[in-house]
Amino acid sequence: MKSPVIIDLRSDTVTRPSPAMLDAMFSATVGDDVFEEDPTVHELEKRSAALFGMEAGLFVASGTMANQISVKLLTRPQDEVICDKSSHIYYYEAGGVFSNSGISIRFIEGKRGIISSEQIEENLNPPENIHLPLSRLVAIENTSNKGGGSYYTYKNLESISRFSRKSGLSLHLDGARIFNALTETGDTTKSIGKLFDTVSFCLSKGLGAPVGSMIISTKENILHAKRIRKAFGGAMRQAGYLAAAGIYALDNNISRLKQDHLRASKIASLLKKCTYVADLMPVETNIIVFSLKPRLKVDTFLQHLKKFNIKAVPFGKQTVRMVTHLDITDNMLNDIETALLKF
Ligand SMILES: *Cc1c(COP(=O)(O)O)cnc(C)c1O
Repeated sequence: MKSPVIIDLRSDTVTRPSPAMLDAMFSATVGDDVFEEDPTVHELEKRSAALFGMEAGLFVASGTMANQISVKLLTRPQDEVICDKSSHIYYYEAGGVFSNSGISIRFIEGKRGIISSEQIEENLNPPENIHLPLSRLVAIENTSNKGGGSYYTYKNLESISRFSRKSGLSLHLDGARIFNALTETGDTTKSIGKLFDTVSFCLSKGLGAPVGSMIISTKENILHAKRIRKAFGGAMRQAGYLAAAGIYALDNNISRLKQDHLRASKIASLLKKCTYVADLMPVETNIIVFSLKPRLKVDTFLQHLKKFNIKAVPFGKQTVRMVTHLDITDNMLNDIETALLKF
């Protein structure tokens, strides 16, 4: 039986603005943000910074741009950034940190993308050794995308922050899905802001905005980040129409993330019943990653789902990823059940 709508589980980026979000966008007061005259962009930046207890914020075009600007802000050419080997900043940003910032990366083998202060310590280069790049920055990803939506405990983050400060390392949070993490841990945004030099988060993922990410930090850092954004060609004019969607998202779409997590865990329990599933990563937030037994190819499986108007993405040779988001409803879960079990 075909479901009349597309059930798009490829990513939480596929959401379309709701009618109420569109209303907020269309009625936004805007100005030229390069002249610093867009009140809606200012409002979004101010509120994002305040949310995390930081001084200032910057609205940017994408999560990738937020990471690229943050890395450039906190490093100099020849420096080294320490991060998990599956980090988005390495894996999915087209090698940007190498060309934009001229740095190298020290990879840590984390547990589902989660690294520890002990591992950072083991990978720190002694600054007196001129053969080695200078360890300058630690980048944390929370939740971890490649890790299947895994998240950090506060204790771990605090210990990484303490170690980084003691060792003169800057600390960046790629918090594309930080609100998904906080939904589970119950930690406050302010307690997270205290730990990092820069925090980035996406408005265009679980929060449901069409475009945009934020960088938040000190006033001084954001002034510098603005110059980098300009050089990257990312200074926008009447961006308030997009910022209005971001404000709407912060006001309305954080508290509902729990529903996405519940639906993801329902999908996971269906997958546990499927004999063709070889391995399922424990579902911690809104991301479901599983591998198929060798007899079933990913392409064949995705073609099967397509017949039920369900979309998912390959996430490795035998691996598939599904992501829940605000356009996935309980009704769709029935169709997903039929598709998964009828195979
Ligand atoms: C999606 C994502 C980003 C940035 O994505 P854009 O598509 O550039 O907005 C950054 N980090 C992580 C962990 C992500 O999942």
